[in-house]
Amino acid sequence: MLNRIKKLKNIFEQKFSDTGLIAGMFAAPGRVNIIGEHTDYNDGFVLPVAINRNIIMAAQLRTDKKIKIYSEEFDQKLEFDLNNISRNEKNSWSNYILGVIKEFQKRGKKLQGINIAFTGDIPIGSGLSSSAALEVAAAVTIANMHNINITKVKLALLCKRAENDFVGVASGIMDQYISALGQKNRALFIDCKSNQFEAIPFVTDTYKIVMCDTRVKRKLVDSEYNQRRKECKEAVLFYKENLRSNINSLRDVNKEEMEKTYDQLFNYSAPVAKRARHVITENIRVKKSVEALREKDFVKLGKLMNQSHSSLSNDFEVSCKELDLIVELARGIKGTIGARMTGAGFGGVTVNLVHRDYLEKFKKIVRAGYEKKVGKKPYIYISDPENGAKSLKEFGENDEY
Ligand code: ADP
Ligand code: MG
Repeated sequence: MLNRIKKLKNIFEQKFSDTGLIAGMFAAPGRVNIIGEHTDYNDGFVLPVAINRNIIMAAQLRTDKKIKIYSEEFDQKLEFDLNNISRNEKNSWSNYILGVIKEFQKRGKKLQGINIAFTGDIPIGSGLSSSAALEVAAAVTIANMHNINITKVKLALLCKRAENDFVGVASGIMDQYISALGQKNRALFIDCKSNQFEAIPFVTDTYKIVMCDTRVKRKLVDSEYNQRRKECKEAVLFYKENLRSNINSLRDVNKEEMEKTYDQLFNYSAPVAKRARHVITENIRVKKSVEALREKDFVKLGKLMNQSHSSLSNDFEVSCKELDLIVELARGIKGTIGARMTGAGFGGVTVNLVHRDYLEKFKKIVRAGYEKKVGKKPYIYISDPENGAKSLKEFGENDEY
């Protein structure tokens, strides 16, 4: 991290001249969801952790109303005017920052011009939420530099608004919450209906969180995602009519009710019955996972993760051959106690719990087995649960800024 901070400081100095005004450096992490997939838009539960990959951002206020932002990964420096913030269709990466600025303005905050340079080591577009990290890093930067007091929850909600309204992605609250509120050695149990959350101890010296990036993304993902949302809504209507009128989401249906009416719903629509079964059982698995973490029973957590994958693959039908292959390879290694796809599906990453003594073996076998069948090596990342967004100065990681 220190090297990246030094490098970013140099980049900042190359790209911008010193305005003599207040300057700072901030970081916000990516995340991986341990369990609770396709539950968020069904008013259900999720259990993500922040990871050891992040966006770091250096900034300094300006005396005028200009916003200048430089992205190291895209190697582009763009200029905007605070009095005229609108979507940038050409350089879409800037919208994550502009959207955040716009949200502060909507809340009546008078902002000053600012120079920003940033860099990230979260793989972009793989499902580890580089987008939320970018928004949260921008929001923490803007708030701190302007002395705006805002709770982390409000900051995350502001970022979600920016992604929904400005960037135009209908995401839930999970990504921004965990990037802002993540804690070292804790997972965040989030209720996506009430937006309430609880940090659950995730303490183990034995097991590591391992992410495998398939490096594939099916074009289908958006249309399939919308289709799943539609099917879940259909299931709710069915239960409302056939069980109780006070059912408003799949979270309101218990397992017994689902099982009792399964054949009836299956006859009406097989996919709808299967989608509902996934969401209803997945919510139960998330709650059981929280129990497992409280009992420090990682083997139990791993089993629940395995069940989650089967349910996503067979009932929700959002896996693909590359995800299934990595999961199968991972499970073949003795030290793996849980393996499943995570994120929307049809590509992206898997999340695994692996005994630390087996990490090298895991990497070797998964890389070789995957390359043999798919023709490219997966990217593998290892992390513990990490802290959420922070000022780097506060953490003594950069005293000069
Ligand atoms: P994910 O959040 O899963 O990584 P998204 O498609 O939601 O994928 O967000 C990726 C987008 O976020 C990128 O296309 C880019 O616009 C922006 N982004 C993420 N990281 C960076 C970065 N380091 N530099 C510039 N833009 C970034
Ligand atoms: Mg994203």
